[in-house]
Amino acid sequence: MKTVRLLDDGDRDALRERFGERARFAQPLAPFTWWKIGGPADALVDVESAEELAFVLLRVRKRRLPMFVLGSGSNLLVGDGGIRGIVLRLEGEFSTLDVRAENGTVIAAAGGSASLPALCAQVATLGGIGVDGLAGIPATVGGAIRMNAGTDREIGEFAREVIVQAPARPEPHRVDVGWRYRQTSLPRDAIVARAELRFERGDAAAVRERLQSRLVRRKATQPVAIPNSGSCFRNPEGDHAGRLIEAAGAKGWREGGAEVSPLHANFIVNTGGASARDVATLLTRVRRAVQDEFGVELHLEVHLVGEFH
Ligand SMILES: Cc1cc2nc3c(=O)[nH]c(=O)nc-3n(C[C@H](O)[C@H](O)[C@H](O)COP(=O)(O)OP(=O)(O)OC[C@H]3O[C@@H](n4cnc5c(N)ncnc54)[C@H](O)[C@@H]3O)c2cc1C
Repeated sequence: MKTVRLLDDGDRDALRERFGERARFAQPLAPFTWWKIGGPADALVDVESAEELAFVLLRVRKRRLPMFVLGSGSNLLVGDGGIRGIVLRLEGEFSTLDVRAENGTVIAAAGGSASLPALCAQVATLGGIGVDGLAGIPATVGGAIRMNAGTDREIGEFAREVIVQAPARPEPHRVDVGWRYRQTSLPRDAIVARAELRFERGDAAAVRERLQSRLVRRKATQPVAIPNSGSCFRNPEGDHAGRLIEAAGAKGWREGGAEVSPLHANFIVNTGGASARDVATLLTRVRRAVQDEFGVELHLEVHLVGEFH
């Protein structure tokens, strides 16, 4: 099947003129994902300010171009055929992070691409209670908000203000967000430009210790050294996807270079050269095995994007 190219020469010229080398075309996305998998983006554009983002969003609206925003790529399976349209990365002012203590609280003001691990470390130093629940999640703040990332505590519990930009309204504006397990009510095309998180302030040494022990536990229970994308499936009500997958006998199953991690059954690892098709096939096999064995339907936590043919 012929690939549809939605960007035309006018779009490419406009992006080149405004962004210079920060606009790249037919750019493979594998290096930008934790799985190290994924075909090319028609255009990959690094935007460094709200104005630059608004410029792209206006063009996306005017030309009805598809658009996708990339965080740190830790929850993404990008198809081998790549992503049509414009893929955005937030840089520059979007990566700023300001953490301060104020009236018995710790406040973190973060750009959409600020590092969540860096935020956790700084908030812990000031004694932000509960931040250990976000420790070790390799996310940008924007990606974490989109996913309502967390463990026993989720980022939504701490979010006081979320500012987005979107094609329909390109200038930064505040939105109310509904938070659910690994999901939010954010409109699909809303890009988190910045956010403010607030934590009650407690004993810094105790918070740091809890954070550290979470990091140590992760290293022991997750295949952190091999390319992966965290948990592939959301936990079903009252159970754990990893437990069900293991009980269905799927640990160690392989498809090309992809393997159900022998360490943590809800992780799929790229042991070398895995394609998106390998991972997608393995996901289907695992889901079917759990359905057949236990009658439980697993739902994906990882986001599948782009073309898989
Ligand atoms: C080793 C490992 C451990 C993990 N542990 C956990 C865990 O304990 N808990 C947990 O919840 N997750 C975990 N994850 C999954 C992942 O880290 C989270 O889902 C994280 O929130 C993804 O953030 P990201 O910046 O990498 O987003 P990406 O993976 O790049 O993108 C994910 C989605 O968010 C969207 N997005 C990204 N940035 C923005 C933005 N600025 N505005 C709007 N949408 C945006 C993307 O378009 C995409 O739809 C783990 C992953 C790994 C690899």
